[in-house]
Amino acid sequence: MAASLWRKTDWREIIIGTYDFSRNQKLQLSTVTLTISQILTTNEMSSSFESATPHNKSVAIIGAGLVGCLTALSLSKRSGYSVTLFELRPDPRLESTSKSSKNLRSINLAVSDRGLNALRRVDPGLESRILEKVIPMTGRMIHKLSGEEESQKYALDGKKGINSIDRGYLNELLLEELDISEKKVEVKFGYKLEKVQEDGKISFTNTNTKQQEQFQFDLVIGADGSFSKVRSELQKFIRLDYSQQYIDCAYLELSIPALDNNGFSLDKNHLHIWPRDDFMLIALPNLDGSFTSTFFAPWGLFESKELSNDEGILKFFRYNFPDAVELIGEESLLYAFAHHPRGKLLSLKCNQYNYKDKILIIGDAAHSMVPFYGQGMNCGFEDVFVLTELLDKHRDDLSLAFEEYSQTRVHDLSAIVDLAISNYKEMSHKVNSKLFLLKTKIDFLLTKSLGDRWLPLYTMVSFRADIGYAKAVQISKRQDIILNWIQAGIVGLVGGLGLWNVLGRWARK
Ligand SMILES: Cc1cc2nc3c(=O)[nH]c(=O)nc-3n(C[C@H](O)[C@H](O)[C@H](O)COP(=O)(O)OP(=O)(O)OC[C@H]3O[C@@H](n4cnc5c(N)ncnc54)[C@H](O)[C@@H]3O)c2cc1C
Repeated sequence: MAASLWRKTDWREIIIGTYDFSRNQKLQLSTVTLTISQILTTNEMSSSFESATPHNKSVAIIGAGLVGCLTALSLSKRSGYSVTLFELRPDPRLESTSKSSKNLRSINLAVSDRGLNALRRVDPGLESRILEKVIPMTGRMIHKLSGEEESQKYALDGKKGINSIDRGYLNELLLEELDISEKKVEVKFGYKLEKVQEDGKISFTNTNTKQQEQFQFDLVIGADGSFSKVRSELQKFIRLDYSQQYIDCAYLELSIPALDNNGFSLDKNHLHIWPRDDFMLIALPNLDGSFTSTFFAPWGLFESKELSNDEGILKFFRYNFPDAVELIGEESLLYAFAHHPRGKLLSLKCNQYNYKDKILIIGDAAHSMVPFYGQGMNCGFEDVFVLTELLDKHRDDLSLAFEEYSQTRVHDLSAIVDLAISNYKEMSHKVNSKLFLLKTKIDFLLTKSLGDRWLPLYTMVSFRADIGYAKAVQISKRQDIILNWIQAGIVGLVGGLGLWNVLGRWARK
């Protein structure tokens, strides 16, 4: 006779009993019913249980840009999802991949609180690994036409900052993370999405073989950027309202080289801005001592006679950015004007992001914004954060999670797209104006005296991931009324005193 355990087919009941060899018979003593958590502790049982759950989903993510990679990492870490990531371009990490096919213009991104919060949510280690590769910027450095510099700190303590990193480099770091991730994500480079069907069938052109290939997935997530194919396919299945606007501003990539021994030619912990009303130059630091610089100007100026030849370009830059020209170098400036493309700036909003539990758009595919609040990627990363929270809340019921995502996220996305446009005016124009500086000073003083009860808009957007974009705008509008009153009071008082002095002087004459 031997003691033994048998299982029933549904794995929930275990029968404890004995086996009588002489009679070749099982003798049942008792039955134990296990809880689900007990079942999941056993490897064999857990896999058997998982495969029976309804949320064992195959997911295709289209676009291995920043947001696509983070979405893939996030879903692959949940149980019940097998993720395949499709990317139009070749692997940017391969030496054979040319810069043009990476399509990554050298753009430096400012990673701030919302982005970091999302990285942490996916994996706390990921946030620290990325933070090792950034340069913190604790304020803006305004370069005036006179050559004077003015540091405007982002936070009261002067320590809180945003973080500069090259976009292409960050993308490669995230692809590396996918490679080392415990649960492998299959990344298929050289696949151009052509069609998405209602039932999850998707068609690609394999850019190497030029052949069409079809796949079937339970869920398709479009992270394929501003000109998203998934978004245009989604329009066939839902009444998707969307609006887009090109702003009258183009950008050109420039570069400030490192000094000897990787030294920095400008303060490395600032985002440098040369604001000149209608146009501006900015520069963000890189780890190797160089700065990635961008010239923003209206299309009319780029296409004007003034900038149509080398002489004109040098004259324009020597007059408007004399200090910067020295750092960039005239030869390199002219090379950039001759060879670098002019980038368009697009602002885009949608009113819905999903079709049932089948298709979802995320990142720039769902909301492109002009780069003047430094939030495009941060907001895309926040999309991943919000989605993860909703999947938790609805226990991976995709229909419920996606419906709530569409209904609630739209307010925040609309708010940040609008804010980004209004910050263009602030960066290129208002940072020079005396009234703007006065308002900023009052804002600063109120923050200092009222602490958390008074938060400047920039602080809420860049450093307070716990305050949604729409809420931040709402709070800021209320604060603005008070600021305008104080500002008007001060201006009135100063004006009044000035007049009083003039009257006094006149009276004493
Ligand atoms: C000048 C400038 C400065 C910026 N500065 C900041 C900043 O400081 N901070 C910030 O947060 N954001 C900034 N941004 C915005 C940021 O770059 C974007 O928001 C971010 O890159 C969006 O990521 P994404 O993954 O959604 O889209 P993308 O980066 O556009 O990635 C989309 C991917 O999809 C692929 N793809 C496209 N079509 C297909 C297809 N049919 N099939 C398969 N794959 C496809 C593309 O090849 C690409 O790899 C800036 C942008 C610009 C232009």
